[in-house]
Amino acid sequence: MTTEPAENGSVPADKAVPDENDVVRYDVRDRTAVITLNRPRYRNAQNSAVTYALDAAFQRAVNDDEIAVIVLGGEGEHFCAGHDIGTPGRDITKSFDRKAVIWWDHVNKQGADNRYAREMEVYLGMCRRWRDLPKPTIAMVQGACIAGGLMLAWVCDLIVASDDAFFADPVVRMGIPGVEYFAHPWVLGPRFAKEMLFTGDRISATRAYELGMVSRVVPRAELAAATFDLADKIAAMPQFGLALAKRAVNQCEDQMGMRNGMDSVFGLHHVAHAHNAETGADSLAGMDARSMKKASG
Ligand code: ZN
Repeated sequence: MTTEPAENGSVPADKAVPDENDVVRYDVRDRTAVITLNRPRYRNAQNSAVTYALDAAFQRAVNDDEIAVIVLGGEGEHFCAGHDIGTPGRDITKSFDRKAVIWWDHVNKQGADNRYAREMEVYLGMCRRWRDLPKPTIAMVQGACIAGGLMLAWVCDLIVASDDAFFADPVVRMGIPGVEYFAHPWVLGPRFAKEMLFTGDRISATRAYELGMVSRVVPRAELAAATFDLADKIAAMPQFGLALAKRAVNQCEDQMGMRNGMDSVFGLHHVAHAHNAETGADSLAGMDARSMKKASG
């Protein structure tokens, strides 16, 4: 559960006029599928509707033989401000057909039973599923890429960032040791992973490039062109070769401990949620929009 509270674009429910159709757009440009998070009013905060729409879009791109590469972008000023913890479209009590894991529905379950089921499916499970898509994926990132937004960028094979992009995982402020898809030590190295987590600070696109987390940094006006140039270059390679190359690197990353590491850290993540719920207002250390609403009357 994430989203920097000041960054999630939440507005009071009575002022919101959410247009929640097409929360994810699907377009085709030559041999590239362009999948776009489309809740710019809320800085593309991810609710479950977005998660399942993303999953459907990724499946569509994989099933289309004409598509060689998948680009994931965000409409508006920001790529993604994180998981939805406060917009009018927040839908954590809604059931969806599960795609990532075989487990019972979280709805109508209590406490950790609810959180574990939901987060294993829509956060960790979905991200792992997308990370292993057989076609190359490129995240096209501008503006904020925070917490749950980082998870989306990290599951992509490459990240092209505009020079105004910034990255952060500030959830230690909630007492939580990082987002559910705990790739930090592998994509940042252990020392910088700790700095990012301990400080919650934003990392600039340039710094992220220096750390090897981002593939390219380009001026904002050139973000789309640079991303599509890269996609076109990759699309010229043999499709099966690309799928095998991707699998080869992902398998080695897992041999480097990423998959097992994430499994063990997921338990710590849920200890933190449970501790918050046990000792405070909610599992997000008082930052859950529902309990905030209750507190404000
Ligand atoms: Zn969580």
